[in-house]
Amino acid sequence: MEQFDVVVIGAGAAGMFCAAQAGQLGCRVLLIDNGKKPGRKILMSGGGRCNFTNMYIEPAAYLSNNPHFCKSALARYTQWDFIELINRYGIAYHEKTLGQLFCDDSAQQVVDMLVKECELGQVTTRLRSEVMSVEKSGHGFELALNGEKVSARSLVVASGGLSMPGLGASPFGYKLAEQFGLNVLPTRAALVPFTLHKPLLEHSQALSGVSVPALVTAENGTHFRESILFTHRGLSGPAILQISSYWQPGEFVSINLLPELDLLGFLNEQRLAHPNQSLKNTLALHLPKRLVEFLQTLGQLPEATLKQLTTAQQATLAENLQNWRVQPNGTEGYRTAEVTLGGVDTKALSSKTMAVNAVPGLYFIGEVVDVTGWLGGYNFQWAWSSAWACAQAVAVC
Ligand code: FAD
Repeated sequence: MEQFDVVVIGAGAAGMFCAAQAGQLGCRVLLIDNGKKPGRKILMSGGGRCNFTNMYIEPAAYLSNNPHFCKSALARYTQWDFIELINRYGIAYHEKTLGQLFCDDSAQQVVDMLVKECELGQVTTRLRSEVMSVEKSGHGFELALNGEKVSARSLVVASGGLSMPGLGASPFGYKLAEQFGLNVLPTRAALVPFTLHKPLLEHSQALSGVSVPALVTAENGTHFRESILFTHRGLSGPAILQISSYWQPGEFVSINLLPELDLLGFLNEQRLAHPNQSLKNTLALHLPKRLVEFLQTLGQLPEATLKQLTTAQQATLAENLQNWRVQPNGTEGYRTAEVTLGGVDTKALSSKTMAVNAVPGLYFIGEVVDVTGWLGGYNFQWAWSSAWACAQAVAVC
């Protein structure tokens, strides 16, 4: 049986980074993955340009049953540490919006960097490898892989969440956690588009492709000011993906399509300056023309000039445009979700090392843990930070 110091299950963002760090700290590391390529989600991420971190990382941008859990790892290996690594590899990047950093060229550069880092750590990588069983042995773990058996004193589970099963996602990590007596919190697709009931779905389909800056608020008061996108399945866009993490089935979200505007003040001003201007042309100064025309076909915009508009009509308009209450039918689910909420309960883990307190040598890192970030590079930073914290711990024991 081949022996290693550390076996890392999952060659995604967290697993590759942890394996590389532990290897560079002197451990003999085996990294295994069920796919034929490492870092498959990284390649898909950020529209192929990988939003690898965010300049404004803060614990408040993470959802977890224990909101304090992520603090230690995020503070010990920060976004600036990862940016320094990116700089060392000469990867050009830019801030797209809201502190989100993307590669100028391609997400492949981040994967290549992690592969190189693994090589520097002399990590052995086995792809297309399935873990058939994991047993605790006297001084560590024995794993049956397809075709061979390996042992290690530390086992790091970095097998990710359930989102995008087409990219190798599996419940492996949750099942292993349960095998060792850990609690797994219910999982749910997050950072995911909403689907809609008819007739709202038909409206969204008619507007498919239209994007509007908006303020979207969940029933618990959490809100995001980014754009929303009408699609043929429902609603998407950054503000919708963000709010999906805070939405529970059956709840409403409120959408303000004119968040920057004092609508009633604007209409009064325009009425004084252009009393014969149509309401439709007036609103088109602030909303996409296709949306305005569509609202008119729905009868939600009176066919009136500004001087004809009644106070009651104005109030209804403000309610329709600035407090549009939508009850999603559901979400598109794990098929298109960027992340999975819930997962391995942090109560069982050390926030400093990611170790399972009750099972010496066992660690959980990255998305498999109940820590989920906002859209915008927060999830990769959690992968890097939790992986780094774990690597320091496996290297000393
Ligand atoms: P993963 O990257 O999912 O890696 C887990 C690995 O484990 C996979 O390679 C999988 O094949 C392997 N595995 C699973 N089960 C087994 C098993 N039984 N045996 C062996 N191997 C197994 N986050 C950002 O911060 N910025 C972005 O721009 C961004 N864009 C995204 C775009 C898309 C389309 C998606 C789906 C997600 C995006 N995310 C982004 C989220 C981010 O990709 C994840 O949070 C991150 O990849 C989690 O890292 P991880 O290493 O924990 O898990």
